[in-house]
Amino acid sequence: VTTVGKPDISREKSAELYRKSKTFFPGGVNSPVRAFKSVYGTPLFIEKGDGPYLWDADGNKFIDFCCSWGPLILGHNNAKIREKVTETALKGMTFGAPTAIENELAELILKNNKFIQKLRFVSSGTEAVMSAIRLARGYTKRDKIVKFEGCYHGHIDSLLVKAGSGLVTFGETSSAGVPESFAKETIVVPLNNIEAVKQAFTEYKDQIAAVIIEPIPANNGLLLQDVEFLMELREITSKNKSLLIFDEVISGFRVGFEGAAGFYQIQPDIITYGKIIGGGMPVGAYGASEEIMSNISPEGAVYQAGTLSGNPIAMAAGIAQLTELNRLGFYRDLNNKTKEFADAIQRFASARSYRVCVQQVGSIFWIAFSDKTKIQSAADIDPTSMEKFKIFHRECLNRGVYFGPSGYEVGFVSAAHTKIDLEMAKRTIFDALDITF
Ligand code: PLP
Repeated sequence: VTTVGKPDISREKSAELYRKSKTFFPGGVNSPVRAFKSVYGTPLFIEKGDGPYLWDADGNKFIDFCCSWGPLILGHNNAKIREKVTETALKGMTFGAPTAIENELAELILKNNKFIQKLRFVSSGTEAVMSAIRLARGYTKRDKIVKFEGCYHGHIDSLLVKAGSGLVTFGETSSAGVPESFAKETIVVPLNNIEAVKQAFTEYKDQIAAVIIEPIPANNGLLLQDVEFLMELREITSKNKSLLIFDEVISGFRVGFEGAAGFYQIQPDIITYGKIIGGGMPVGAYGASEEIMSNISPEGAVYQAGTLSGNPIAMAAGIAQLTELNRLGFYRDLNNKTKEFADAIQRFASARSYRVCVQQVGSIFWIAFSDKTKIQSAADIDPTSMEKFKIFHRECLNRGVYFGPSGYEVGFVSAAHTKIDLEMAKRTIFDALDITF
């Protein structure tokens, strides 16, 4: 790699760990995008995090905008989460029986979220969505699911069709190993295009169990939808007796305590959560009205279970994190800070006529290498722009700013990022942009 600008950071220890990890794990990792396949250099092995900062095995320090892909809205190693987790762990790790702490997290969520009446905890976003789909199918007694091109809903067989995240990063939007008979039940349509949705409902009349969408699509870049489009989705699903599922694994508790449903004031039928809800521990959840949720086992006939569901340590982390988010002004401050940051990057790039489009909502932002002023669907993204991201990513890393290693992934600002951190990050990003262009 020829380095432009700053010399490359040392990656000796990371490289050594990577050599070893490749002997244990396919591609050396336990989740594909971590492998740095579409950016420069070996993946960095992380040693520790604190507030907005990360340190890798070689001792390099970074301001982190990946934030573990979203869960860390309070930053790394938050003291309140750590204390609650430690206190809970002293009583045991898991019981496989009901505990009061599950009630505590559920109450905190349900009392402050008018869009769901009951919920079920699971251990990942994938599980939450998988269960929501089964619930929708069981409830409607229909099989087909409408999903949108570029939306990622976890690694569930029937949803790994034209998906974002690692799939789009590696240029393969669908996975091998998914039986055609499963994929056949998934109807894929472009985002922000209500005509395509209408057409699907005409073609598959009375067969569509649910339409699933990330209401704030954030796995194929950040593709902000028109609110009218989301409202029409609500209307068309109701009219056809299909359910509307909001996959809020990223947007839930991110753009506000009530997530995208609250942000747009749209009532979906089922909502899925993950990431933030677990405060950095493996937690997911799905929720709906009492009537819909009564179909879940042991009350209803839709089976869903989990050995570690509602795990006390995970519940503890979730409670500590969501308690902070529920404080007055939390989201206002975080969202304003992020907007100022994103606007400054856009202003800098525009003043120099760089082909950059910064999209932002709440504390999510995405720096796209594009001359468009708005990017709303997967087809709006030019894959060759990822070459620019690759340079940008390297230059940011070499200057101490960490982004997820894919141009299709968004950045997250946490409450731990101070104005000074953001100022420093901005200057770094400006320098990196100068070299990229
Ligand atoms: N849904 C969305 C919108 C996601 O972004 C993700 C993960 O990134 C998932 C579902 C799957 O969650 P998990 O990785 O926790 O299984």
